[in-house]
Amino acid sequence: MGRFDQVTPCDNTNHRRADPPAGFCPSCGEVVNPRIPRRQCTQSLHDAARRERSAYCVDCGTQLITDR
Ligand SMILES: [Zn+2]
Ligand SMILES: [Zn+2]
Repeated sequence: MGRFDQVTPCDNTNHRRADPPAGFCPSCGEVVNPRIPRRQCTQSLHDAARRERSAYCVDCGTQLITDR
């Protein structure tokens, strides 16, 4: 918990996939598939993602959970 490495890729499997199903990694917010266009997210969509403990939105890369 609380390990945010900017240089080394995180453990999320999206980084290792050739064609990830999401545009952004939910763990570190980095772009994992630049071919997927950004989606216009709604507040409720981000609330739902936050409940699933995604630190970042996989559709737009917005940080959902701020580490205080
Ligand atoms: Zn990641
Ligand atoms: Zn979003």
